[in-house]
Amino acid sequence: MSTTPAQITEAELSVLTAELDALRNAPVLRNCLMPGCLRQYDSLASLSGKTPSRPEWSSAGWKMLGSGTVFPAGGNICPDHADLIGAHLPRRHSPTPDGWWQARCTCDTWVSPLHRWHGVLRALWEEHLLETAGLLPPPA
Ligand SMILES: [Zn+2]
Ligand SMILES: [Zn+2]
Repeated sequence: MSTTPAQITEAELSVLTAELDALRNAPVLRNCLMPGCLRQYDSLASLSGKTPSRPEWSSAGWKMLGSGTVFPAGGNICPDHADLIGAHLPRRHSPTPDGWWQARCTCDTWVSPLHRWHGVLRALWEEHLLETAGLLPPPA
């Protein structure tokens, strides 16, 4: 048995309208690229100038990491990690003529070994970042 429009009550219509609004305004959450960081912001609210549905999803203080780094599609950095990562930006070099990739950190204390697959560079830089932040035990 189906409901006809004439049978919908004001209360039901109100619920449907609220659900439609929630779907239209669903957050598009972006994560911080710091390994282990759980912070997120709502990029849709940020782009449209709206207030995010949760205060912790605000984009205030977030930084963007462009392409040309070990994050080919770019990345997002929360305010907690903006200073740390700002001092350790991971630049990716174009491959050598024979196809080797390398990354270099802007702190000038770290450069990755040459690798055939550029996707390896992100993990290597993350290890450098975690060591720098004192979040990894020193090697035995
Ligand atoms: Zn973070
Ligand atoms: Zn560094």
